[in-house]
Amino acid sequence: MIGYISSYESFATMEGPGIRFAVFMAGCNLRCAYCHNPDTWTDGHKIDSNELYNHIIRYKPYFKNGGGVTFTGGEPILQAKYLTDVSRKLIADGINIAVDTSLSVLSDEQKEFYTLCNLVIADLKFTTGKNYEKYCKKDIFSTAKDTLNFLQEKNIAVWIRTVIIPGVNDTKEDIKNYYDVIKGYKNIERFELKPFHTMGFEKYEKLNLANPFYNKADMSQDKMEILQNYLNELVKS
Ligand code: SF4
Repeated sequence: MIGYISSYESFATMEGPGIRFAVFMAGCNLRCAYCHNPDTWTDGHKIDSNELYNHIIRYKPYFKNGGGVTFTGGEPILQAKYLTDVSRKLIADGINIAVDTSLSVLSDEQKEFYTLCNLVIADLKFTTGKNYEKYCKKDIFSTAKDTLNFLQEKNIAVWIRTVIIPGVNDTKEDIKNYYDVIKGYKNIERFELKPFHTMGFEKYEKLNLANPFYNKADMSQDKMEILQNYLNELVKS
């Protein structure tokens, strides 16, 4: 089966537990104003699922302590059938599967793939459809919630990640709103706040794309600490 891939990273450590082989799948149905991977929006290159499997399997000795493969992107679940195909082969070799997704599509294809995952890293971007529409060009909030419900029903582990952007979602009230969306779920193991940074800006220039947040600075570390402490208090209460 043919899939479209943007790039790989053989020794990724930020994409789940242990050492991971990260596959950046090509294509995305959102256009987040703060995207730091706009290079994944284009079609990427074709790769057969057997070829991808053969490539990944060489790294198996490094997949200790919960390590394995993470499909990211772009929006990997747009190619859910392909991911299911590759993952079945990897699982047969005892390899752990994670996916990093914005939870933006949920049909039988995505459900089938999710049930093969050991971990879903869920980018919960906003807490209202209005903000999804404004900053990601598509309101997928109800699909994101439906997906979280499905993952809970199947008892699939979830880590939530949210990028905190100066002047967009950086108040205690914003953090409370995120927490209110996720607090009832038993399968959510982590909620990570990630600071907005400007490191991806040069990609916009290189690709000749308009950068909607060109005038934003990196999120301040001090403010992140305040928000993280506030979140810790909410979790304890
Ligand atoms: S979902 Fe991810 S890859 Fe797609 S536009 Fe948003 S940040 Fe970029």
